[in-house]
Order: sequence, then structure tokens, then C-alpha cells
Amino acid sequence: MLKDFRADLHMHTCLSPCAEIDMTPREIVRVSIERGLDIIAVTDHNSAENAEAAQRAARGTGLGVLAGMEVTSSEEVHVLALFESPDSARMMQEVVYENIPSGENDERLYGHQIVVNEDNEVLGFNKRLLISATKLNVGRIVEIVFSFGGISIASHVDRESFSILSQLGFIPEGLKFDALELSPNMSRDRAETVFASIRAFTWVSFSDAHYVKDIGKRITTFTLKEPTFEEIRQALALKDGRSVSWS
Ligand SMILES: [Zn+2]
Ligand SMILES: [Zn+2]
Repeated sequence: MLKDFRADLHMHTCLSPCAEIDMTPREIVRVSIERGLDIIAVTDHNSAENAEAAQRAARGTGLGVLAGMEVTSSEEVHVLALFESPDSARMMQEVVYENIPSGENDERLYGHQIVVNEDNEVLGFNKRLLISATKLNVGRIVEIVFSFGGISIASHVDRESFSILSQLGFIPEGLKFDALELSPNMSRDRAETVFASIRAFTWVSFSDAHYVKDIGKRITTFTLKEPTFEEIRQALALKDGRSVSWS
């Protein structure tokens, strides 16, 4: 028996310098439940340090939380990396941290990068240049995500910056994204017309929320046996009747 699950797998917490301070793990979980979501993913820029707090905040609520991040490649392409376990996310984070340019985040210029626990207590401020491009190219990122058992999704491919199409102009052959993400302001009909050439990939669409008001603004419905990471992966591969849909 397959069932529908409402998912928003792209949102930023207060760890992302460009996200609002109210985007704490606890608040994200509360609002996601209020808006009827079943599965979310925490995907801060180049870091997963707030993901586990969201997972802990969601314990016992029925909301599924995937640990992830949005990695910026050396070509300035954003790639969503989603993982089953916080351990895999942490391993990914280690590789990303090794490949972030040295230097400190200028909070006045870019904003704060706040690490928070599930009770909304500030644990510290991340000083790394999370907003910058890593030294990893997009192909390497997809490989590393795969090696840690993760799912990689090319972020907001319709956007005019930080997307694989804006930066490379095409999707290189052999790049095995599990899916491509369309941004919330792109309608399904328009996407079908403009992006017909990349229809071979599975398409998803999420909110990319940086503000509380935007959580769940765009969702993708996953048709699964149960709301697990492996089922999500199989749905992206459209296996055995599993599917994804958005409009
Ligand atoms: Zn992005
Ligand atoms: Zn994002």
C-alpha cells in the first residue's frame, strides 16, 4: 500500500547567514507540523550543524527530519545533499569544512551563523565562511554524497544564479543527480515548456525557506510505502509505483 507524504526538503536555519534568526530548529519543526508537512530536511549552506537539533526537536511528533546541507561547488552551483543518518551528514560536513576557504565570516556583511539546540538555546556562532564556494567541483560533490549513501539534488535549476544551468549552462553527461529542484516561483506548466530538455531527471520543488513565513510554501508529495530515507530515494528513481509530484 502506497501513501502520500508531504515533503519540504530544502530549508535553512539561523545557521545560514542569509536566513532569519527566528528559523531555529525548534521553530521549524513546530511550524512544519502546523502546516501539515510529513517530512522536512534541514539544509544550511555548507553545514549540517543545526540538523540534529531539528531531529531531536521532532522526536515523538511524527514529523520526519532529514539531515542535510546545501553545498556550494567551486563553480558556485548549489547542490542539496540529504542523508539518512546524522553521522553521514557529519562526514559530509567534515569534507566540506576541509574545502571551505579559510577566513572568518563577517557578521556585519553576511549575517550571523547561529548554532542552536532543540530548546532554542544558542550553543555558539559558526565562524567559517559558510556562504562561500567550496573547492569541490559539482561532480566531486555528487560523488562524495553518493559515497556517504546520500541523495544529491541540483538546487533551484531555474534560478539565474547558483544553479547548475546558470553556472554551467547544461547538465554534464554522467552527473548522477537523484533529482533536480525547481524553485517555488516556477509553475509546473512553465517548467515543462522551458526545461523540456532536462525532463529525463526527476523533478522536485521545495520552499528553500529562509523565513518562517515560507516554510512549506512549495511542497513535493512523495508516494511511498513508509516515510523513510530509502523510500524517498526509490521514489526519486520512480521504482515500483512510487512517485513524486508537485504543482
Ligand atoms: Zn541555493
Ligand atoms: Zn537554499
